[in-house]
Amino acid sequence: MAFLELHGLTKRFGDFAAVDDLTFTVERGSFVSLLGPSGCGKTTTLQMVAGFETPTEGKIILDGKDLSGIPARERGLGIVFQTYALFTHMTVEENVGFGLEMRKVSRAERKRRVADALDLVHLSHLGNRYPRQMSGGQRQRVALARALVIEPQLLLLDEPLSNLDAKLREEMQLELRRIQREANVTTLMVTHDQSEALALSDSIVVIDHGRLRQDATPFDVYETPQSSFVSRFLGKSNNFSARLESAGPDGSKLVCGSLDLQGPRVDLAPGPVEIALRPERITLVGADAGQLRGTVAERVFMGNQWLLRIETEIGDMLVMRYNTGRAEAEQGATVGLSWKPEDIRILPAEETSA
Ligand code: ATP
Repeated sequence: MAFLELHGLTKRFGDFAAVDDLTFTVERGSFVSLLGPSGCGKTTTLQMVAGFETPTEGKIILDGKDLSGIPARERGLGIVFQTYALFTHMTVEENVGFGLEMRKVSRAERKRRVADALDLVHLSHLGNRYPRQMSGGQRQRVALARALVIEPQLLLLDEPLSNLDAKLREEMQLELRRIQREANVTTLMVTHDQSEALALSDSIVVIDHGRLRQDATPFDVYETPQSSFVSRFLGKSNNFSARLESAGPDGSKLVCGSLDLQGPRVDLAPGPVEIALRPERITLVGADAGQLRGTVAERVFMGNQWLLRIETEIGDMLVMRYNTGRAEAEQGATVGLSWKPEDIRILPAEETSA
């Protein structure tokens, strides 16, 4: 049995379903992210797990126990909010120890556990400071220590890194993962940041309009998205409408605009489909080679990669080139684009939401 189970969880505000029949599980000790665009229902889901919102339908089971009717404070959860919500008039030690004081833990044990929690987040030397005397990254660590000191059954993180600048956010991704592993705490995080979800999670639950779109490992959601939405939401993707002509054990035949294409094996009936191709899977070749010819409309140097936008007869294509160590094809140059048939993802033609 999974440690946390959400069964058909639904939250309606009037007629509007903010969370719509959501079912997924979280294994003990794992790190799971709820990922989706703004307004897709992530926070509402987390609030229901935390006990701050009541589900309209469905159940939440934690360690075999139905949480229905159990108030937030009795759920034994550690929560880190986007804003950290630290007490400004308390020192770091007092902030971290607050939950233990509320639980009437003795002074000696409190001291020991606060010291352990600060050690875990590498802040032992700053216990006497006040939050205002700390950087954003340090405050984030205090918030984590405060959530973990009570030894929660489950750690809930609501966009925990979104207030940090880009560089610090990357450093904290690694730190957060280390802390979660060392504390061995089952964690459910809400984020709209796909790179954060990819970097941190054992599995990612992708949500759109309150509904589950895919629940898989970071590798699988990126490499084998099951829908147009997931392919476009995670990373960059070149998506085109196409027609699946035939699909057999040796691969499939597709038509995209005036192009005849080979694709991988697929379990779909012939008809309209969408094809998705990652920019990093496309190779630039001579103008007369490859599957498609195009003109470099823009090129951007990003340090470890070049990003090119190529105009082609089927539409614009993004192409990513890593560590080439030299300047890329000039703007206006004619190039050939090549890829392996198995790099094409063939997805059901659907939806309009982005
Ligand atoms: P964000 O990343 O912007 O925080 P989110 O995915 O966390 O978005 P939620 O905050 O869960 O989204 O909101 C989901 C939807 O439910 C939104 O359309 C929001 O306007 C709506 N909603 C949330 N709370 C309420 C409420 N109390 N009453 C009515 N509608 C609400």
